[in-house]
Amino acid sequence: MVDKELSFSELAKQCLEDSEEWFGDLDVVYSIPYYTLCLAGEVGEFANIVKKIERGKLKFDAKTKYEMAMELTDVFTYMLNIAALLQIDLTKSYQIKRAINEERFTEEKEARNESS
Ligand SMILES: [Mg+2]
Repeated sequence: MVDKELSFSELAKQCLEDSEEWFGDLDVVYSIPYYTLCLAGEVGEFANIVKKIERGKLKFDAKTKYEMAMELTDVFTYMLNIAALLQIDLTKSYQIKRAINEERFTEEKEARNESS
């Protein structure tokens, strides 16, 4: 089932509610270290697919792209759970971080252009 488009905050709330319902063990559901390890594991699963493509062991076709989408979604899901626990609004955080990066990388680009 595909829900209507939800904001990151709504998705984060939904993820945490799903975890509470599906897993029940609230010591785990509310554990940032647990989700952090899960997040790292899912990044590894995504990286493993990329590694196999790079080594020529896996074709980059529609099936592989689907598998990559599923692993990336696992990464996203754990990020949302962590954001929900820390009450972080990822939309706002993204905009703040983007502004920081824009200033930083614009300055770095200008410095590179001046030195060349
Ligand atoms: Mg996975």
